[in-house]
Amino acid sequence: MSIKAEYIWIDGTEPTAKLRSKTKILDGSVAGVAELPLWGFDGSSTNQAEGHASDCVLRPVYSCPDPIRGGEHILVLCEVLNTDMTPHSTNTRAELAEVAERYAGQEPIFGIEQEYTFFKGHRPLGFPDGGFPAPQGGYYCGVGADEIHGRDIVEAHLDHCLAAGLGISGINAEVMPGQWEFQVGPLDPVTVADQLWIARWLLYRTAEDFEVSATLHPKPVKGDWNGAGAHTNFSTRAMREGYDAIITACEALGEGSKPLDHVKNYGAGVDERLTGLHETAPWDRYSYGVSDRGASVRIPWQVEKDGKGYIEDRRPNANVDPYVVTRLLVDTCCAALEKAGQV
Ligand code: ADP
Ligand code: MN
Ligand code: MN
Ligand code: MN
Repeated sequence: MSIKAEYIWIDGTEPTAKLRSKTKILDGSVAGVAELPLWGFDGSSTNQAEGHASDCVLRPVYSCPDPIRGGEHILVLCEVLNTDMTPHSTNTRAELAEVAERYAGQEPIFGIEQEYTFFKGHRPLGFPDGGFPAPQGGYYCGVGADEIHGRDIVEAHLDHCLAAGLGISGINAEVMPGQWEFQVGPLDPVTVADQLWIARWLLYRTAEDFEVSATLHPKPVKGDWNGAGAHTNFSTRAMREGYDAIITACEALGEGSKPLDHVKNYGAGVDERLTGLHETAPWDRYSYGVSDRGASVRIPWQVEKDGKGYIEDRRPNANVDPYVVTRLLVDTCCAALEKAGQV
């Protein structure tokens, strides 16, 4: 039997990488990702190579059922390698894998809230031609045709993610019309990031059939409209067991050059979104607080009450690279927890 394997990879578009994919026909059934063949592509068409040495290598790292094609067909997420099998400079997964391995003993896990905006032509879905909808207020978690735009696409995407076996934990309508969110996790750092990339691909692919596009632009409409983020919820075993570790992690993120080291890698245009308005903290001022949606890092009220749990880094943009944000959080917080003997 012929299996259609959709090989998906992350390209070299700057400042924000895009997803690319192409189909490989495989003969017979495949058991695991390790058995899937390497493949290649023309890196000169993806900003990953020069024309005179254009070959880049695709190495499968994660595969799942393809809910679009159904049957035995599969989606195959790949990392990009140079022809000498070293990680390509655009391959941020390789660095995460190293850091995650180093701190695996602390059992870090993540839940990422992916916000995004549907567009029909040049306007967000639900924005009237040549005008604006009623101001924000009723759209977040709303119901009814006056408030909700694109629910059929959102439901189809959710079904596709579940059929693919992704660890989706919820969906909701967001503050601006045409804006939505899904959450992936909690899962270990590499898995949550792999699955988020697949869920993004499925979002674009699902919306394509409705002739709608989806964007992760952090500020799709200028002015008094919410931006789109990717709140990153994080815990280690010690944080899930006690409050001291929660505070150690929050403090570590505020030390020295850490706030800037993080924020400048939290997605292109992060300063456009982190203005201090619209439930954000200003990008150049680090803060943390219980229940505080105006802080850089929020400790949920339940976590304070229980004296254990997780923290929410509210700074990452919707267009953040999940391999990067998870690496930075593990690196900063797990090193501090290790130093404090809280592991
Ligand atoms: P918000 O109230 O900020 O909108 P959401 O419910 O959208 O929060 O997302 C919270 C995310 O945090 C979910 O993906 C959830 O799985 C994740 N999460 C819950 N507990 C933990 C934990 N201990 N460590 C990391 N992530 C967690
Ligand atoms: Mn949320
Ligand atoms: Mn949200
Ligand atoms: Mn949140």
